[in-house]
Amino acid sequence: MEKKIIIAKCVRCGKLLLSKIGTKTKMCPYCNMRFSLDAAVIVARLDSAREAKIMLAELKRRRAQGQMGAVRPQKLGSESFS
Ligand SMILES: [Zn+2]
Repeated sequence: MEKKIIIAKCVRCGKLLLSKIGTKTKMCPYCNMRFSLDAAVIVARLDSAREAKIMLAELKRRRAQGQMGAVRPQKLGSESFS
């Protein structure tokens, strides 16, 4: 199936945000930076907004764990998601 939604990383603040594929520029809701999606890191591509929101929540959860320096569960160690 063709992917419809992307998760991009803001070029300024690094926060993750959702966008439809085909969108040229995106305004970051966190720092109000408008940037070209061509220049941004695309973290993931998904089939639907619903899937994208689930993925986004998961990514934020993992990032929060990393920032707190918490002990990471072993099961996350084997995944390569960068
Ligand atoms: Zn931003």
